[in-house]
Amino acid sequence: MREPRVIGVDLGGTKILTGIVTRDGSVEHRRETPTPLESQEAVLAGVGAAVEELLDDSVVALGFGIPSRLDQKTGRVEGSVNIPLQGLDLRSRMAERFNLPVGIENDANAATYAEFVAGAGRGAETMVMLTLGTGCGGGVVIDGKLYRGWAEFGHIVIEYDGLPCQGTCTGRGHLEGYVTGTAATKLAQEAFGPAADAHRLVRLASEGDPTARELLAGMGRRLGAGIGSLVNIFNPELVVIGGGFAAAGDFLLDPAREVMRREALAPDGGRVRIVRAELGTAAGLIGAGLVAFDAASAANGG
Ligand SMILES: [Zn+2]
Repeated sequence: MREPRVIGVDLGGTKILTGIVTRDGSVEHRRETPTPLESQEAVLAGVGAAVEELLDDSVVALGFGIPSRLDQKTGRVEGSVNIPLQGLDLRSRMAERFNLPVGIENDANAATYAEFVAGAGRGAETMVMLTLGTGCGGGVVIDGKLYRGWAEFGHIVIEYDGLPCQGTCTGRGHLEGYVTGTAATKLAQEAFGPAADAHRLVRLASEGDPTARELLAGMGRRLGAGIGSLVNIFNPELVVIGGGFAAAGDFLLDPAREVMRREALAPDGGRVRIVRAELGTAAGLIGAGLVAFDAASAANGG
């Protein structure tokens, strides 16, 4: 018998990534297709077709990482910011269509799971992850187990009555307003003109531009304030920074480390490491696969 494998689906606002995932987190037959955004049914059809393409007898479960708020008890998608999925029983719909166990997870939680099993978090017991992209997502592994609930770390307050948050969030002074690629692009444009963006800011910093370096350091210090609060709650050994804007690297992370050490009260605060994620854009897909394996074990009675 062939080794059991699963299909992981990373459903994003612009593309659907799919692949066959093995238990150790390796990916085969990776595919990519644009996300049809016209309607909920169009998204479902796109996802279904992507699964269909990879399905064979060795596949024992399906896993989905989606940019949405989920109710894990019911398998319902409550709402999403960037794709038209809302009030949808995704888990049952996919389980009925493919007659396989199905797991679903928020995309940042899925990425956290992947880094924990197969990336920067290997060997850690307790780990916090932040993904810095268009927005700021989060996830946490506690005592070796992925926390499968709400972990919207991007929306912790780092400045009372600060900048308005993004999208549908009504809050102010949230981490997400300060440390994302979106925020970096805004700062870059103020400093270097309307054609600048986050990529250019990072490039200028690596070329030695002092303004660019100071802007990234300022973002890093705010990131460190947020991380300090998370360290005080979870006392992790490791904080993993992923997402596209993690490309800013130590220009961002060194100031973050400094402020985190000041803010962290946790007994091991001084030893917490802040590191970059290792799996890059594959993290969501691998995490979706791991969620599928969990669904397969649950279907077999644990
Ligand atoms: Zn917010």
